[in-house]
Amino acid sequence: MAKAELMNYEKALEQFEVVIGLEVHVELNTNTKMFCGCANIFGDEPNTNVCPICIGLPGSLPAVNKKAVESSIAIGLALGCQIAPNGRFSRKNYFYPDLAKNFQTSQYDEPIAFEGSIEVEVPSGKKFTVEIERAHMEEDAGKLTHIGGNTGRIQGAEYSLVDYNRAGVPLVEIVTKVVYGAGAEAPELAAAYVRLIREMVKAMDVSDARMERGNVRCDANVSLRPHGDPKLGTRTETKNVNSLRSIERAVRYEIQRQAHILANGGKITQETRHWHEDKGATSAGRPKSDADDYRYFPEPDLVPVQPSVEWVESIRATLPENPALRRRRLQDEWAFSDLEFRDVVNAGLLDQLVETVEAGAKPQAARKWWTGELARLANSEDKDVSELNITGVQVAELATLVEAGKLNDRLAREVLTYVLAGEGSPAQVVAARGLEVVSDDGALLAAIDAALASQPDVLEKIREGKLQAAGAVIGAVMQAMKGSADAGRVRELIIERANQG
Ligand SMILES: [Zn+2]
Repeated sequence: MAKAELMNYEKALEQFEVVIGLEVHVELNTNTKMFCGCANIFGDEPNTNVCPICIGLPGSLPAVNKKAVESSIAIGLALGCQIAPNGRFSRKNYFYPDLAKNFQTSQYDEPIAFEGSIEVEVPSGKKFTVEIERAHMEEDAGKLTHIGGNTGRIQGAEYSLVDYNRAGVPLVEIVTKVVYGAGAEAPELAAAYVRLIREMVKAMDVSDARMERGNVRCDANVSLRPHGDPKLGTRTETKNVNSLRSIERAVRYEIQRQAHILANGGKITQETRHWHEDKGATSAGRPKSDADDYRYFPEPDLVPVQPSVEWVESIRATLPENPALRRRRLQDEWAFSDLEFRDVVNAGLLDQLVETVEAGAKPQAARKWWTGELARLANSEDKDVSELNITGVQVAELATLVEAGKLNDRLAREVLTYVLAGEGSPAQVVAARGLEVVSDDGALLAAIDAALASQPDVLEKIREGKLQAAGAVIGAVMQAMKGSADAGRVRELIIERANQG
């Protein structure tokens, strides 16, 4: 793949206005699929959760999953949408091997939810209102795995495997209206929007919301137009970007790529594009015109979806707190500064913090571990901190051990690496590896006396009030104890020694 030429980002923004639009697919966590009784489980043996309905055998008849409709309504309400009193499913006809029915059951002109809006805050603290055009129900397709070739894509592959376990899993597709005015912050806005959707669906418990498993996937539409031009530019649609960082990078890349083409008199091709995380670039997919004709027609095998007002209102009553209000409440409860709180939100760590604090850690300690050492470790492995193999409960356990003086900072960091390596909870690691701080004063005093023997003038200096002289002895003791001493306690003991003499 030849790398496209890019315009400098600031220069691109001087010349062009950025216009974006976002489509987010949320996979629902219902027990069963959208139109059949097959289990909706991630990671089972391929083609074990299939039946005549979800692989589209002739004569099979679908039935709508009530829980999926309920979850879809909940999502619509959380997005401030109106709920359609009468909605229908439609067949979207196309052939692809991961879709054995030859059509996808979706919603076309009668989505379950429409006309909403949500407020999205970007890392700078600026707030944008993102208008929602619609949220509709549909089914997922199966999963293709291309073998051979080195890109994992169909090009160059020797053969492909298909797994229909995912075929028929319920999805809600949320489509925004065109978003203007984000300017240089368009990439951050796109990522913050998806983060908010993820936070919402997780809080409502309608999706597992794990991006690395494809539970939340984003298609990002980007177009540019010269400032002041009333006509929208030609857009590209970067498909299935599945991490927040990738969304931000993909939008930024498209802005720079399109700006270079337009500034040099070229034309943007209306097409889908793929994001390549390793190369930090997008590549052309298939051309996509607005007139793509899927021959939608009403699904004759399903009755219309007609949620009653009572049902919709009973779902509304179960909605969790609005995310913006929840954030405000948590910031108050934790007594975080705006900056501290924003750091947590922007790192996508709000849920982790809640779990850690609920498990007994002090909010500031929870923040320090997640945005400090854990973020650093994730970064060094080129991962999202949320992908690390550690839970809030485990971080709380670590913080509690530090708080109780059983671990010092250095030991706690060491314990973390073993927890991440799967050796168990912090307490289990401490027990198995004997990493606890030495709190036995006898052992500490022996080390102190040994250190003092080589620095006999230190006690005299301390008696004269030169307390900083203790530093050299503390250092020697920590070294002798291989870091497993509590430096504060060592200092106390040295001063006691001086006062005794
Ligand atoms: Zn099935």
